[in-house]
Amino acid sequence: MRRADAPTRPSLTDYDACVRRSYRPGKTHLTNRRADVETGYGTYAAGRGRPHLVARTKDWGDPDVGFQQGLYEHTWEGGWLEDVRSDVLAAARGICLLCNAAQPRTIDHLLPQSDYPALSIYAPNLIGACADCNRIKSNKCHDDPARQFVHPYFEPIPTDLPFLRAEVIADGVLSPQFEIVDHDGIDGELTARLRWQFAELQVNSFYRNEAVLFFQKRQYAWEEAAEAGWVGLATSLRGDLRSTVRAFGVNYWESAFIQGLLDSAEFRADPMKFLTANVATLFAARQPEPAE
Ligand SMILES: [Zn+2]
Repeated sequence: MRRADAPTRPSLTDYDACVRRSYRPGKTHLTNRRADVETGYGTYAAGRGRPHLVARTKDWGDPDVGFQQGLYEHTWEGGWLEDVRSDVLAAARGICLLCNAAQPRTIDHLLPQSDYPALSIYAPNLIGACADCNRIKSNKCHDDPARQFVHPYFEPIPTDLPFLRAEVIADGVLSPQFEIVDHDGIDGELTARLRWQFAELQVNSFYRNEAVLFFQKRQYAWEEAAEAGWVGLATSLRGDLRSTVRAFGVNYWESAFIQGLLDSAEFRADPMKFLTANVATLFAARQPEPAE
């Protein structure tokens, strides 16, 4: 997981555009609500994106709640708010902001539309996410601060301190298990929430699948390197690790996986056992549970 920049669109531009361009007779309600929305937006950013700090806007008694939620439908292709969607997806820079792995092809409302209709098209509440994360996250919204999704724009998710770890070998089977671990330099409460989110979105299953495919791709190159012994293989692995960290950061699944291989006593003791085996057999013993 990493920190991303919020979409650059000024926060109230979309709201104003909706009011201005709406043919809805009741648009005076929307105009009257502008100050409330602005205050809500202000709290959101000032609270560093912690969802529990923002009062639910569905409690505003707003007669236009349905309309506010409906505005989001216009961000889809061909809609008159289509540019909102492109800004949000561009801000994700090609990686889902919830799992930090898959392609972000959908928009997730960090604070769900059902509870926060007035934030339906507020750009910093819109997160580029993959279809799986979006589907699993759904409209979950907890009052318990320990069970709140981490905001990728406002919260200080470290990019240089490792908090994702992969335990790669277990019982002689190549079986990566990913987990979020504590780090002295990272706030414990934030780590706990990252861990909760990781479990909630079933990210381990996803990373495991990615790791299997990745291992399959690198297997033969690593086998060649291993012919010169562990030193040759370790050099090759460290080279791969450096370029992955440079491109995706230290908490990317591939970085953690390669580090896990380097740290694995079993892999080090007999790398050929794994590098020459059929990948399907290697991983067969512990396939991840299918998502949902
Ligand atoms: Zn995702």
